[in-house]
Parts: sequence; C-alpha cells; structure tokens
Amino acid sequence: MECPACGNNAVIYNGVEYVCSQCTTVLGVEFAKCVKSAYAEIKSVVEQILAEK
Ligand SMILES: [Zn+2]
Repeated sequence: MECPACGNNAVIYNGVEYVCSQCTTVLGVEFAKCVKSAYAEIKSVVEQILAEK
C-alpha cells in the first residue's frame, strides 16, 4: 500500500493501525477496510441500477 504523505510503498500494518515505515504517518486503524467496503457498496448500487434498465 502506498503512503499518501510521502508516496513510499512502505505502509505496514502493525496489528492495530496502518503506519508508513518511511515517514511514520498513521493512516488510520481501518483505512483500507473502509475504502474497500465503500467501493463494494457503490458497486452493488450501480449493479442494481443497471439491472433495472
Ligand atoms: Zn510515508
């Protein structure tokens, strides 16, 4: 995963939160999970709209 702060692909999960090992920026506890579930939700809505047509 790429760090949005320094662009380094050095983001690690330490068991609690996502941290960039390069600049130590904390990306949040469930950053990746949130993005993933939001994307899945949008995808299902779009599929519903397409199915109705
Ligand atoms: Zn970084």
